Amino acid sequence: MTLTFIEKEHLVDNVWAFRFKPSEPLTWTAGQYVRVELPHDNPDDEGTQRWFTNSAAPFEGILQISTRVTESTFKQALSKLEPGSTALQLIENPEGDFVWQDSGAPIVFVAGGIGVTPFRSILKQRAHDGQSLKATLVYGSRTPDVPFKDELEEWTNTDPSLTVHYVAGAPLTAERLTELVPDLNASLVYVSGPEPMVEALGDDLKKHGLPESQLKQDFFPNYNENNY
Ligand SMILES: Cc1cc2nc3c(=O)[nH]c(=O)nc-3n(C[C@H](O)[C@H](O)[C@H](O)COP(=O)(O)OP(=O)(O)OC[C@H]3O[C@@H](n4cnc5c(N)ncnc54)[C@H](O)[C@@H]3O)c2cc1C
Repeated sequence: MTLTFIEKEHLVDNVWAFRFKPSEPLTWTAGQYVRVELPHDNPDDEGTQRWFTNSAAPFEGILQISTRVTESTFKQALSKLEPGSTALQLIENPEGDFVWQDSGAPIVFVAGGIGVTPFRSILKQRAHDGQSLKATLVYGSRTPDVPFKDELEEWTNTDPSLTVHYVAGAPLTAERLTELVPDLNASLVYVSGPEPMVEALGDDLKKHGLPESQLKQDFFPNYNENNY
């Protein structure tokens, strides 16, 4: 499927949102990811393909890639797209089970920086559908200026059952999360972000008593504590 580049928007720091119109209707569940290919000259070792969460909500009907623009040849090619370009191809349809699950347990979202993308899609869709946003988002970041903060504030104002805790410049640990979310071990906990952080926090949460069946993880490779 061809994805026609519509526009890009600067969010914060080196984070941009790139928006694409699919050549056929794209259906997915908020929180899912796709694999795309962007052919370009002299690609580096990581090549011309990447996985990205669709940070748009399904009702928007577009692919929105929200990402840090690094020096990688893929990201450089992405940032040079001109509106109307049809260079980006969808090579794997939306997939993944990192989606809202009504299990009766309280929902806790934990984002490490750009790992917020699935939560943005999920919350935006639910807000649009008039569904409850009852969840706690713990949003960890290197600096206080984070993507989607305005929308998050809008949603916490319209639905006070959504709580957002911002944790800037400090590691996210099970101990810190327990201070912020008292019923943590009874919750369904979603962790998304740099691969090393998601792995370490997942292990820490299990060590502190979170049953494995209540842990969902979304790993973003090639991000770490210095670049998320
Ligand atoms: C399910 C899923 C969803 C994802 N969703 C998103 C998303 O919404 N937004 C997003 O930005 N990303 C997302 N990613 C990650 C994305 O696919 C890329 O891996 C990421 O954006 C980095 O790509 P890049 O081109 O910037 O860097 P890369 O070229 O992949 O690498 C970036 C930097 O990492 C370092 N590096 C690379 N390989 C190694 C290595 N082997 N050892 C040590 N350092 C290394 C280098 O310093 C390099 O400059 C997702 C990944 C998955 C699997």
